[in-house]
Amino acid sequence: MPDRAPPTADALARPGYDEITLYAPNRAPARIDLSDNTNLWGIPPAADRAIRAGTAAVTRYPSLYADALKSALAAYLGGGTLPEMIVTGCGSDDVLDAAIRAFAAPDAAIAFPDPSFAMIPIFARANGLAARPVPLAPGFDVDAAGMLQARARITYLCSPNNPTGTAFSRAALERVVAEAPGIVIIDEAYAEFAPTNALDLTRRSPRVLVARTMSKAFGLAGLRVGYGIGHPALVAAVEKARGPYKVNALAERAALAALGEDIGWVRDRVAEAIENRERFVAALRTLGLAPLPSAANFVLVPVAGAAELDRRLRGRGIAVRPFERVPGVGDALRISIGPWELLHEVLDALAAELGR
Ligand SMILES: *Cc1c(COP(=O)(O)O)cnc(C)c1O
Repeated sequence: MPDRAPPTADALARPGYDEITLYAPNRAPARIDLSDNTNLWGIPPAADRAIRAGTAAVTRYPSLYADALKSALAAYLGGGTLPEMIVTGCGSDDVLDAAIRAFAAPDAAIAFPDPSFAMIPIFARANGLAARPVPLAPGFDVDAAGMLQARARITYLCSPNNPTGTAFSRAALERVVAEAPGIVIIDEAYAEFAPTNALDLTRRSPRVLVARTMSKAFGLAGLRVGYGIGHPALVAAVEKARGPYKVNALAERAALAALGEDIGWVRDRVAEAIENRERFVAALRTLGLAPLPSAANFVLVPVAGAAELDRRLRGRGIAVRPFERVPGVGDALRISIGPWELLHEVLDALAAELGR
């Protein structure tokens, strides 16, 4: 036996690995949880039935690459989208991570707006990439020139952007797609809540991957179903990096039901979310707050001392997502949009806490 202790996992980790932080937002249960932008109306009914009726399937492996789901997604997206233009994944996180792995070797650069989706700097570091955050332009649009200056292997855009909720301008998106030297990922996790989307850019450029999810509008966050759309060759490369069996058997069944029998239910909930968002924004303004213009199912509300306000709201059983020192915004609360009864309680709690 050697007399020295064997090296610990820490000592054996890849160089720089200790700089990666575990993604661990406060997920403590709350009576009203408006912290993660999921569908607060619940699971679509046919998806619920499909899971309950489908449990016998779990003794076998699921389909390799979820071909039935790809066909259903192609039909849902329309506009000439073909199944071979789609790659699925264990949440769109999986698709984003696989796309990074497929196209960027360690030390390559990834450019992304700042602020934007919190997972991107984490995926960048986990894949050994150089992170190039680019502050947003005035009006919370993407700074196209700044993004292009990074000459990055991967350019990540998010529209509507999380956490600002703002949609990037068509002109800026088109410019980045036309001039970026590498792959352009457009994360459209909230596309269903926005007036426009960039899906057509996947047919105009073979270097664009649009990432979508069934975690937000479709109410299936716990099942982890995401997908990407792009040129068949690009999608095939991402699928290879992703690997087989990533959409589990129950998830694929539920997703098919949600896209089929449930689609009217989902569209109605999306319409309600948009209506409630506008009503909520107007009510926040009467409290003297100035929420950012949102094209998503959440709003970002700049407010000093957001972390402390978040703790006080939690004391009232209400969870939102606090942000501190957001570039160009300052402290802010991100609040998910749901049924009006819940938003009404948040408004009352905010009015009480802010003394308005
Ligand atoms: C929620 C979210 C996702 C992740 O979606 P999953 O499909 O649940 O992994 C991706 N991008 C953005 C911007 C999000 O807000």
